[in-house]
Amino acid sequence: MGFLNAGHLNGAIQSFVNHLMSSDRSVAVIGGGPAGLMAAEVLAQGGVHVDLYDAMPSVGRKFLRAGKGGLNLTHSEPYEIFLSRYGARRAQIKPLLDAFGPEALINWVHGLGIDTFVGTSGRLFPTAMKATPLLRAWLQRLRKAGVHFHMRHVWRGWDEGGALCFETPRGSLSAQPDAVLLALGGGSWARLGSNGAWLPLLTQRGIPVAELRPSNCGFDVAWSEHFRTRFAGHPLKSVAVVFTDSGGDAYRRQGECIVTKNGVEGSMIYALSAPLRDEISAKGVAVIHLDLAPDKGLQRIVDELSRPRGSRSMAKHLRSRVGIEGVKAGLLRELVPPEDFVDSTRLGAAIKSLPMRLISPRPLDEAISSAGGVAFEALDERLMVRSMPGVFCSGEMLDWEAPTGGYLLTACFSSGRAAASGALAWLKTRG
Ligand SMILES: Cc1cc2nc3c(=O)[nH]c(=O)nc-3n(C[C@H](O)[C@H](O)[C@H](O)COP(=O)(O)OP(=O)(O)OC[C@H]3O[C@@H](n4cnc5c(N)ncnc54)[C@H](O)[C@@H]3O)c2cc1C
Repeated sequence: MGFLNAGHLNGAIQSFVNHLMSSDRSVAVIGGGPAGLMAAEVLAQGGVHVDLYDAMPSVGRKFLRAGKGGLNLTHSEPYEIFLSRYGARRAQIKPLLDAFGPEALINWVHGLGIDTFVGTSGRLFPTAMKATPLLRAWLQRLRKAGVHFHMRHVWRGWDEGGALCFETPRGSLSAQPDAVLLALGGGSWARLGSNGAWLPLLTQRGIPVAELRPSNCGFDVAWSEHFRTRFAGHPLKSVAVVFTDSGGDAYRRQGECIVTKNGVEGSMIYALSAPLRDEISAKGVAVIHLDLAPDKGLQRIVDELSRPRGSRSMAKHLRSRVGIEGVKAGLLRELVPPEDFVDSTRLGAAIKSLPMRLISPRPLDEAISSAGGVAFEALDERLMVRSMPGVFCSGEMLDWEAPTGGYLLTACFSSGRAAASGALAWLKTRG
């Protein structure tokens, strides 16, 4: 790799020594999340010199954060169902997963000496329920394989001569590798490194990139001050949500979510975040219907509510007859007109199908992941940018999205591998 010094002299000398010691082909991997680290592994195994650059003081920060939730690596459901989770991008993600899918990923994790287990929901986790041991073992393997890590190197694009430009604590630095593999992540949780600042760097080069939008995110609801103060932070358990978009497509999920001070969030809501976000973007609002008692039929609820309540309060009547209390009862008070409380049929209907208006998705930075990114149409089957031969893209920075459940990490790992294999194949064709 040819380093052109634009900053500190010592840095340039060190880089030049690295260059002399390396094999004659070099690839710069920019971004040290799961996609970039996986790419670095494949490239190093392929015998090229790998320089991995990351803006942060250490790699894998979002991966480690994902570990706080147990690190859901992948899912054990049948492959066809797994593929369906990538929705409109199924066709583009399928070849990546055919080459390195959930099973291959599990074997790879075991190869690092990490045990895994499948939870009751079919999701797969490391037994330790965290990312640190996996990342530590992986980095050791990468260092042994000769991957050179360059931390605190913020990539700022290309200069006029086509060299990569970095800002480092030692000043500006440029590098001219034989190929570049971008794995810069999406645009959420910017404090962990992936801030989406790469987007204009690619669009300036004419590469089509879809705007980054929140995915697996919460939504705002205009709660009253009373409800917000009383119930923010309360989990809504054993509920179902039904949403029919303006195109007539219907979605139903059962599970749980959390009432927040701004609205609602949690796995059941995240699962519908893509159609909800798109509906709000098209119509200004998305109306979901909550079933607060999914295990009871409407008629049974109406019958129970119709029984005489004597001198008991409505709150006691709801609790003893249909098990509605706490935040569920609060939601009814918040969203149902007072006159419906004296009509068992209308109150029963509200319990089974409570309309709730979602007025906006929470900001991108709060989302678990982002939709949008580099358009697959801009890439060839090796994930190389058609208009910039030798530049490859991978991970969450590509234009796909998926729900939580291990689908995000699996596609990041597999696209990192695919882009690295593509880079090796491309370098071969260059002789
Ligand atoms: C709270 C939370 C929990 C999650 N839990 C799960 C889970 O359990 N299962 C799951 O499948 N997914 C989970 N995810 C999503 C998953 O972590 C991401 O999809 C995944 O990390 C994306 O990998 P990536 O390699 O594409 O990008 P990232 O992991 O975001 O890595 C990108 C890297 O690029 C670097 N970078 C960015 N810009 C520059 C630049 N200009 N110059 C140099 N370096 C740069 C960043 O510093 C970063 O290290 C979770 C996400 C969050 C926020």
